[in-house]
Amino acid sequence: MSSWDTVLRGGRVIDPETGLDSVCDVAIAGSHVAEVRDGLSRGRADLDVTGLVVTAGFVDLHSHVNDMAGLRLQALDGVTTALELEAGATPVDAAYRTAAAQGRPVNYGFAASWAQARMQAVAGIRPGTSLAAFLASIADPRWQRPARPTQVSAMLDALSADLADGALGLGVLLGYAPAVSPDEYVKVARLAARAGVPVFTHARDLIEMVPRTLIDGAEEIVRAAGQTGAHMHYCHVNSTSQRHIDRVLSVVGRAQAAGARVTTEAYPYGSGMTAIGAAFLAPERLGERGLIPSSLTYAPTGERVATAARLRELREADPGGLAIIELLREDDPADRTILMRSLTFPGSVIASDAMPVTWAGPPADPLAWPLPRTAITHPRTAGTFSRALRLLTRERGFGLARALSKCSLEPAQLLEDRVPAMRHKGRLRAGSDADVVVFRPGGITDCASYADSTRPSAGIRHVLVNGTFVVRDGQLVPGARPGRPVRAEPR
Ligand SMILES: [Zn+2]
Repeated sequence: MSSWDTVLRGGRVIDPETGLDSVCDVAIAGSHVAEVRDGLSRGRADLDVTGLVVTAGFVDLHSHVNDMAGLRLQALDGVTTALELEAGATPVDAAYRTAAAQGRPVNYGFAASWAQARMQAVAGIRPGTSLAAFLASIADPRWQRPARPTQVSAMLDALSADLADGALGLGVLLGYAPAVSPDEYVKVARLAARAGVPVFTHARDLIEMVPRTLIDGAEEIVRAAGQTGAHMHYCHVNSTSQRHIDRVLSVVGRAQAAGARVTTEAYPYGSGMTAIGAAFLAPERLGERGLIPSSLTYAPTGERVATAARLRELREADPGGLAIIELLREDDPADRTILMRSLTFPGSVIASDAMPVTWAGPPADPLAWPLPRTAITHPRTAGTFSRALRLLTRERGFGLARALSKCSLEPAQLLEDRVPAMRHKGRLRAGSDADVVVFRPGGITDCASYADSTRPSAGIRHVLVNGTFVVRDGQLVPGARPGRPVRAEPR
């Protein structure tokens, strides 16, 4: 017998980087892949995976999930690394320490949070560490005011300290603070350029939606890349672009062709989810995005918001309460085509924007599994990667390796300049991290819906993180906490 801990035998092994796509065995020793070839000897655990695909686990660049329930749903969707890069966390070291103390089923990491640094510098707001507390603060207009030069310096100092502590980049929720000076954003990008890490941006309003915007949201991102040399990452290009996706992607494409480093991500749903108190969800502003009050569903109760007056009430009573916002109609073929453009755009990676699980009624035991029926989230939390694979391969004719590349290899490559750990993820080869997903190629699909948002995906048989099973034979392994921190190497 060999010294291998696990041998996955006879699966269809796909490595998007080398193009390997053949039936062979995968041996895992400790937290690494030891060998990938045919006819390996037996390991301590020997699993027949004939008929299943064996590939690198999915790397999610956009997960707001810090709770065990949400992380488990992500693992059941094939995610082995879930990173909070858009909202970020400041101070970042505290976020890493909290996650380590909690223990996580999947690998984790954080960007520094411009919004949190700004809340502190401009308004003296110290949001708590939970996303719920942060979302409640995000509706507060005090932090969204234009900043004085000393305040900008203070926030840049806080972000610099986070970068020195290994933050993976700078997360900028610009779209939540439309009055912020474009000059401040360029300063943030310049800081990222010096550190060699990306800026992850929730874009400012597009000019088609808000003609009075200080600068068009898409132009602003690509100009910052051109002006500063920073790597600018355009978060969820699907949801902030809506029906203007062609114009936005042409702006991005032109910048890329001119040599700027601009990258994009998308999730395969027509609805978004955020705090109902967000600036752009004010009743008088809904029309900018073609929305009406009933485009919003208040998640904790499932209430469709009937009127502007009711929306005002909910924003007042629970500004951080989550709402589902119908931006594109998934039952409309034209809208579905628009949605798929953001996913099929070359280099666009799949990223979930996964949200924490909230509860209809009293919160349940955070470790309860299976999840009680009162658990609610956006279906993207549980289904993004399975759904993207289903849509790309079965509806858009992508080969499996090409679709998988958007879920594992390309997100890992996007970060690997300053994040050595990422050079061993997103690949399946001897020496790579044993973050592995094993699934039925004809059967992988999302099961979560808006009405039943926490149903785990189907077709995924095994998920290993650093060599440890977190999903085995299609079932969650509740005690597994093999997730490790992913940090940048500061320049
Ligand atoms: Zn966002």
